Amino acid sequence: MARTPIVAGNWKMHLARGAARELLTTLRANLDGLQGVEVVVCPPSPWLGDAADLLRGSTLRVGAQNVYWESHGAFTGEVSAAMLAGTVDFAIIGHSERRHVFGETDEQTQRNLRAVIDLGMQPMLAVGELRAQREDGSTNDVLRRQLLAAFQDVDRLPEGFIVAYEPVWAIGTGLTATPEIAQATCADVRAILADRFDAATAEACRIQYGGSVNAENAAILAGQPDIDGLLVGGAALQAESFTAICKAAAGAAA
Ligand code: PEP
Repeated sequence: MARTPIVAGNWKMHLARGAARELLTTLRANLDGLQGVEVVVCPPSPWLGDAADLLRGSTLRVGAQNVYWESHGAFTGEVSAAMLAGTVDFAIIGHSERRHVFGETDEQTQRNLRAVIDLGMQPMLAVGELRAQREDGSTNDVLRRQLLAAFQDVDRLPEGFIVAYEPVWAIGTGLTATPEIAQATCADVRAILADRFDAATAEACRIQYGGSVNAENAAILAGQPDIDGLLVGGAALQAESFTAICKAAAGAAA
């Protein structure tokens, strides 16, 4: 089954408003209409409205970096999935920085995932192991635990569902997983999805690799059979590198 690869740029907490608007404008000029790959940009929350305005009518899509599952209420500092619906089409759920810097639990990830699915938005569910877990051989157990917890009350995955496999030791470190490790682990993720749902669901699911992707390694990573696109942090902050990565992913899929 043909899966449309998807490349997303996670800007994290970077770029002032002017720089963000400039990057969005350049990305639109560079990437609008690019065939063979879906392109999503995930700016910081305050710039999501700008992103939606500047990318409207193009093929580029806007994603949030995080959501909160409650629709409204006394939750100071949070932004609900419901408030983002209509502005963004995608949301990263369970990013490793949410889990490991802000202490997000599997249960919170599961609630956020559920809220995004219920609102008809597309989650990008991020999972990944710590370096010590890779070294002690527990990567598969960790991924299984994260995935099963996130899917606790999900009966069926929406079409085009996205899992982002991001080894924590590769995020922002310059230590990219080798194409062999990335491929083997994304295949393991697909096998866990087949166990939890069924083979057809697993085949249809899009699995991104993330972790120090750059313009040089994008093509070989995106060209692996179980890798259906990339989640990009640092290299998404420059138009030149993010453009090259999106084009490499489109080329690898062709
Ligand atoms: C990320 O933020 O999801 C990420 C993969 O970051 P980087 O590309 O900088 O490693």
